[in-house]
Formats: sequence, structure tokens, C-alpha cells
Amino acid sequence: MACNRNRLHGGNYAAASLREPYEPLRGSALHIRDVLKANGLSLCQTLNMKILLVEDDPTLGEAVMLAVRQAGFAADWSRDGVQAEAALKAYAYDAMLLDLGLPRREGLEVLRNARKRGATLPVMILTARDTVEDRVRGLDAGADDYLLKPFALDELLARLRALLRRAHGVADTQIRMGRFGFDSVKRQASVDETPLVLSAREVEVLEILLNHAGRVTAKEAIADRLTGWDEGVGDNAVEVYIHRLRRKLEGSGVVIRTLRGLGYLLEAER
Ligand code: CA
Repeated sequence: MACNRNRLHGGNYAAASLREPYEPLRGSALHIRDVLKANGLSLCQTLNMKILLVEDDPTLGEAVMLAVRQAGFAADWSRDGVQAEAALKAYAYDAMLLDLGLPRREGLEVLRNARKRGATLPVMILTARDTVEDRVRGLDAGADDYLLKPFALDELLARLRALLRRAHGVADTQIRMGRFGFDSVKRQASVDETPLVLSAREVEVLEILLNHAGRVTAKEAIADRLTGWDEGVGDNAVEVYIHRLRRKLEGSGVVIRTLRGLGYLLEAER
């Protein structure tokens, strides 16, 4: 696969312009490469992926553009619905990050039109609208994922990688850490190729930790993520899932560490 590094340098976004909660990502380029590797993606693979961001808020738009470019993706930024449609017609993007409240044309209309034209790219809606009805409308219009504002850039990137892995077939879907393996399409964890029996919630928690492999994930972030689609999940429930996961992962080669007051860290056993 050709690896076009020039795409990395397509813009000049000053980290100083970022504000909470869209803080700059931690970590060096080397660290990002490790994170990608842990997620079954190489830096080269992300360099060949181009993302369309559709967002009219300049502060958020700048922060997201900086984050996706730091993570190695190429990206274009449309600031209204009409511009977004023109961009989608002009270029075969690998994924779209789509705000709903947009000048000139609503995000959902942009999405419906794209699907009508047969566009299959994965789409993640970024919105502050959070009623169940809104989510159903978004999914009915053809969205693949839904992220509520304000969000952490780390989570946006983790979900974007997951979307791309699902869209990009088998080669990018196998995560391997020693004896431990995870197939992100089948959502199946295994040890020495023997499948682990995990509940749906345990798989979700494991996926969240894998997407942050090598970095700390706050307990609240896990609880928020699990509450995304249904009733509330408390911090206590997260502790229970982690406890069960730990027992099932014993001897697998990966461990879930607790960092007091910070959260959880999934890493290879030393
Ligand atoms: Ca907006």
C-alpha cells in the first residue's frame, strides 16, 4: 500500500487555540504509532484514509481537525451542509464526522442525500441533541455512530478507528497482545485462539479499554460510553464489569490495572 505522508501537513492548526474540553492530545508521534498498532492499524494505513468533518463551530472544528491530523488521518473541513454535499460528491472519503445543526442544509438531510446517492462511507454524528428520538432519526438516516457534545477527543478518535476497522474488513480487525486476541468485527476475545465467553457489556468495556490500550481510561468515561444507548450505568456497575473481565482475562497475557483516582489501563502483562 502506498503511504502518502504529505497529507499529514495539510493544515496549520495552533494547539494554543484549543479550549476545554477539546484539549490537545497527549503523547508523541511514537506513542500514536503504538496506539494505532494496538488497535490493529498502522500509521501508513491511517495516512491513506481521508475524513470529512462537517462542523460550523470554528473552535470545535479546529480542535477536531487538529486531533484527526495528529492521529495520522488526512481531513477536509466543510462548514455548512451545502459545502459538505459538494465535498462528498467530489471525493470518496473514508468516513464523515457530521454535526446536525448546520447553516444552509441540515446534517440529517446531507446524510440522507448521501445515502440516496449510494454513499457507503461510515458516518458519525456529532451533536448536542440527545433525545432518544434524535438518535433514532440519526440512525434511520444512515448514521453508524453517535457522539454527544461535549466529547473528549480521545473518545472521538477511538470511535473513529472502530468505525474504520468495521468498514475496512478483516486485515485491520485483529488485535493481538501476546496470547490475547480480539477480533473487532466478530467482537470476540480469545486466548491462544480459544474464544473467551464474555457478556455483551463485558465486550463493550473491553473494547473501550482496547481502544485506549496503553492509556488510562476514566471510570466515568466508561460509564458514559455504556450509557450512550440506553438506561444509566453507574460507576459501581463499571467496577463490577472490570472485576469480571479481570477474572476472565487471568493468564491471558493482558491485565487491567487500576490507577487510583485516574481510571483503568489495559496493557500487556509483564
Ligand atoms: Ca452546529
